Amino acid sequence: MSRFWSDVVKGLKPYVPGEQPKLANLVKLNTNENPYGPSPRALEAIRAATGESLKLYPDPNAEQLKLAIGKYHGIEARNVFVGNGSDEVLAHVFLGLLKQARPILFPDITYSFYPVYCGLYQVDFETIPLAGDFSIRVGDYARPNGGIIFPNPNAPTGCLLPLAEIERLLQSNPDSVVAIDEAYVDFGGASAIPLIAKYTNLLVVQTLSKSRSLAGLRVGFAAGHADLIEALERVKNSFNSYPLDRLAIAGAAAAIEDREYFEQTCRAVIASREKLVGELKALGFEVLPSAANFIFVRHPQHDAQESTLALRQRGIIVRHFKLPRIEQFLRITVGTDEQCSALVAALKEILSP
Ligand SMILES: *Cc1c(COP(=O)(O)O)cnc(C)c1O
Repeated sequence: MSRFWSDVVKGLKPYVPGEQPKLANLVKLNTNENPYGPSPRALEAIRAATGESLKLYPDPNAEQLKLAIGKYHGIEARNVFVGNGSDEVLAHVFLGLLKQARPILFPDITYSFYPVYCGLYQVDFETIPLAGDFSIRVGDYARPNGGIIFPNPNAPTGCLLPLAEIERLLQSNPDSVVAIDEAYVDFGGASAIPLIAKYTNLLVVQTLSKSRSLAGLRVGFAAGHADLIEALERVKNSFNSYPLDRLAIAGAAAAIEDREYFEQTCRAVIASREKLVGELKALGFEVLPSAANFIFVRHPQHDAQESTLALRQRGIIVRHFKLPRIEQFLRITVGTDEQCSALVAALKEILSP
């Protein structure tokens, strides 16, 4: 704390990202990165964009990327907003669409960045408890609100809400924005993007960090009615006109266009997840049903924080949240089969009496 800080800064409780350790040779299963790396075509496009042209500002509208996303999802470029990671897109959503007279709603267990944005932008919110099985009950959101936001699949649970339930939520909340954060949807869910043509209050947010394995490039986007997109553009153009650099625009567009690599690597992650789930259940873990590239597990006889430390001593990092209702869970990113095997072997050691 310093006397030079503004009152806003004094009141902030910043998000704490998962550790990015400097040590090599760790099995890093703590921040839901994709183990397979970006599409070779994306890397080629980034290399091709590296040169003399970097002296020039990028296209402030990132048209090339919006067109690629639009083509992939069957929507117009005017229905697409792009930002420096979906975290930035989400920040603009909170200021541009969710800061309303009434409090917004999100689950009690969800992406912990949401309350941080509420603190930054002074957005009132209420949390709605997940059901006992950690699922979202759409009926609980049928009450006056300034907007609704949650990830689907939810984080850090991995649980998926069927599209029919999202539609029911949209129908019961025609007067507020419903923002669906689809950071993990490509690992087992169906995107709500096709519904934006029918529901003008729906905004879908996606990222290239997880399923396209480009966490280091920082690209995310939103899809929605042109009026919602315009709100985000107004915020963006009052904040930073060039959030995406030339390398990010070129690499992200190429990654979206390489459908085959994307589908193949998603299939590989899903296959590893299903194998890992079976192995952890055999070790006595309770595993929540996951449609994401991570799993959320607890062991009835072993303390989660102790297991996290014991894994760390064996060079394996997973995520543990010291939060009500979930302090006995481990969130484990699905790595390669080799990484998953290392995890299972270490857990066998840790659990054996
Ligand atoms: C990873 C993640 C994001 C952020 O992704 P970036 O595009 O890397 O900023 C957003 N929402 C959820 C739920 C996530 O897990």
